[in-house]
Amino acid sequence: GELPRAEEVQQLVTEAYERYRATADGTVADYIPVLAEASPDLFGISVVGARGRSFEIGDVDTRFSVQSVSKPFVFALVCEAVGYESARHHLGVNSTGFPFDSLMAVELNDHRTMNPLVNAGAIATTSLVPGADAAQKFERISAGLSRFAGRDLSVNEEVYASEAASNLRNQGIAHLLKSYGRLYFDPDEATDVYTRQCSLEVTVHDLAVMAATLSNGGVNPQTHERVIATGVCRRVLAVMATAGLYELSGDWLYEIGMPGKSGVSGGIVTVSPGKGGLATFSPPLDVAGNSVRGQLVTKYLSDRLGLNLFASE
Ligand code: GLN
Repeated sequence: GELPRAEEVQQLVTEAYERYRATADGTVADYIPVLAEASPDLFGISVVGARGRSFEIGDVDTRFSVQSVSKPFVFALVCEAVGYESARHHLGVNSTGFPFDSLMAVELNDHRTMNPLVNAGAIATTSLVPGADAAQKFERISAGLSRFAGRDLSVNEEVYASEAASNLRNQGIAHLLKSYGRLYFDPDEATDVYTRQCSLEVTVHDLAVMAATLSNGGVNPQTHERVIATGVCRRVLAVMATAGLYELSGDWLYEIGMPGKSGVSGGIVTVSPGKGGLATFSPPLDVAGNSVRGQLVTKYLSDRLGLNLFASE
């Protein structure tokens, strides 16, 4: 299957935008001080088909830090480098049921593994990225995410500095993991590389291209470059379905029926395997840290575009 005709997709994207434009629920994240400056009115939607067509509306050129939406893509790069079985062994692939920055997830699990999409598992994932030092690891991440996006991404230094000055909790998580043998690099340096990774700037269009690459077996549909193997792509989507929206991942799958990933700056990516990638950007978040408008728009488009993977017709 494919997405419906171009005019129909653009019409539905426009309808979704108009329908939820006035929604005022949710709160902009402020635990990373600079994120609190984001306007709650920012709102953009982008859909990129698995063959590269794009449909978008709203604040599609606004740059924001990728935050946790980086996590599945860095996991993909690690699977590509070390193999997806080794990645599972080192990181785990089960949902935690806990908030994204939970230490309980580490404490209440025999293997001390989580999954790559909560902070503990994500910092462990970053620690597994090949490279002799932190600079090489970061270079590999930024080059890899740039291939997913089809353009060179760079760090927002202000966001990086703001989070680096306030991320004691992530530093604590990294040290805890290290104490259990579940971090594979120096904890302070791994946290620093992870913080830089979260500060890479994207637009909602970039996110849709990244998601479309996952919808297309790992080949970027706009640059035609293979970024990851098809077998890796499938595993990344499985983890997104399991844990992409933290402790609300079950609600997300129940409503939307597709793998997704949210971030605290307000982005959400959703992947329709074989059909395309969908991205939304709207900073106000629910209690779990997921964009409120993003969830509403994605639900609407999943229904209207017929994308729910569990629907038999
Ligand atoms: N950089 C953020 C953090 O580690 C990312 C969290 C998120 O987007 N949920 O807290």
